[in-house]
Amino acid sequence: MRPSYLGKNHLHWCDNCHTPVLGRVCSCGTATREVLITPPGDARPGFEMDIRHINRVYYEHFNTSLIPEGHIVILNKIPDKDRMEEVVMGGAVVCSIRYLPEERRWEVLPRVHATKFAKPEKKFVVVDTGAIESIQNGSSVLAPGLISIEDSVVAGDEVFIVDKCGECIGVGRAKVDAKTARTMERGSIVRTRKVKKSECFPGPATWDEAIVSNRDHLRNVEAEAINFVKNVAKDNLKLPMNVSYSGGKDSLATLLVVLRALGKVPLLFADTGLEFAETYENVDRVVEHYGLEIIKTGNGDNFWETFEREGPPAVDLRWCCKACKLNPVKELVTEKWGECLSFIGQRKYESLARMKSPRIWKNNQVRVQLSAAPIQHWTALHVFIYLFQEKAPYNVLYERRIDRIGCYMCPSSDIATFELIKEEYPELWGEWTEKLEWWKNQNNLPEKWIKNALWRKRGLDADDDSSYT
Ligand SMILES: [Zn+2]
Repeated sequence: MRPSYLGKNHLHWCDNCHTPVLGRVCSCGTATREVLITPPGDARPGFEMDIRHINRVYYEHFNTSLIPEGHIVILNKIPDKDRMEEVVMGGAVVCSIRYLPEERRWEVLPRVHATKFAKPEKKFVVVDTGAIESIQNGSSVLAPGLISIEDSVVAGDEVFIVDKCGECIGVGRAKVDAKTARTMERGSIVRTRKVKKSECFPGPATWDEAIVSNRDHLRNVEAEAINFVKNVAKDNLKLPMNVSYSGGKDSLATLLVVLRALGKVPLLFADTGLEFAETYENVDRVVEHYGLEIIKTGNGDNFWETFEREGPPAVDLRWCCKACKLNPVKELVTEKWGECLSFIGQRKYESLARMKSPRIWKNNQVRVQLSAAPIQHWTALHVFIYLFQEKAPYNVLYERRIDRIGCYMCPSSDIATFELIKEEYPELWGEWTEKLEWWKNQNNLPEKWIKNALWRKRGLDADDDSSYT
C-alpha cells in the first residue's frame, strides 16, 4: 500500500488511446488503469532530447534502441545516489535509467516489458524451459538451467533472461562473465531482480491526443484552482496581488490559473543573477505574450558578495535563497506595498517538505508576503499537459533535459545535471569553476572538492568519498 502522506498516484493509462490519463476514466470513455510508479510520482513528459538520451544509453548496452518513434514516454524521478528516472511506456515502467557519479556514466535497469518495444541484441542469457518458473518467482539463474550466454556479458552487467523462443521471462544482474559462466556446472549466474507485476500495451500516440484524453480532468482541476484563487483574493481584498514568476513551468501554470480567475496581475521576478539565459528570455516572452507588468528585484550582486565571505552555498548551508530571493523580495514588497498577496507555483509532489506545507502560508523570513499555492495538488504531468493544452510559452530548458529550473549551480542539483550544464553551457560552468577554484585555494581544499562536487555539502568531511549525494 502506498503511504497516504505521499499523496495519491494520479498516473493512469488509457489502453484505447495509448495515452497517460490523470484520472480513472479517459475522455474517450474508457476506464483507465493505474500505472505502478514509485512514489511520490511527480511524473513528467519525456521530450525529444530525453528520448534520444535514453535510446543512446540503451543502445550502448543492448545494441538496440528502446523507444520507437511516435510513442509517448513518461519519466518519473525516483530517489537514488544521484539522478534516476523510471521510464514509462505503454502504461508500465519499461526500465529505469540512473547516473553513476563515480563512474561518470549512465546505466539502464531494464524491465521485462522493455522487450515489447525492442529485443536486446546483446547482454542476455537463454535459459531452459524447466528453469522458467523458479526464475519468474525470483530465483537466480543457475548454471544447470543455462542454455547460452551472450559473449559480451561481464560480471555486474544488467541482462535480460529469455527462454528458448526468445521470450523475455526476467531481468537481473550477471554475477560472472560469459566465459566463466560457460565453464560452470553449478552456482549462480544471474541474480534476478524482482519487480511488481504490471501490464503493458504498446501503441503509438501523440501529446495532442493526450491533451484530448485529459480534457475533462484538467477542466476539473483547473476549476478547483480558479475557485481557490478567487476565494483567497476575496478574503484578502486589501492586499495588492501578484504572481511570483520564476521562469519555471509551475509558476507559468499558476499564472494561467490566476489570469482566468482574476484577470491581469503584475509578475514578481526575483532575479538571482544566476539564471540561465533561457530563463531571462522566458520571463520577457511571458510578459509580452500576456501583456503584463513585471516587477523585478535586484540583480544578484548579493550572491558574489556573500560568496567571498562564506564560500559557495551548500545543501546544508543554503544562504543563497535568503540572500538572493527572500531578502530582496522582502525589501521590495515592504517598499512598494507594505504587504502583498503572491500566488506561487508550489506543488506538494515536489518534495516531502512541500507535501506537508499548507496551501496558504507566510514565510518566516518574509512576513510581509502572504503566499498562496493554486496548483498545490497538481503533479508535474498536470502542469505540462495544461501548458501544452493552453499553448503556453514554457521555458525551453525543459526540452533540454533540465527538469528543475533555477540557479544554474544550485547545490541541490544532481551531478548528472551539472555534467549536462558543463557540456551545454561551458562558459557559465567555467565562470562557476573559477570561483570555486578561488575558494578552494583560499582554504587549501583538495582537488576533489571541485571534481566530485563536494562543495555541495558543507557538513561532510572533504576526505569522505561517499559524499556524492
Ligand atoms: Zn482513451
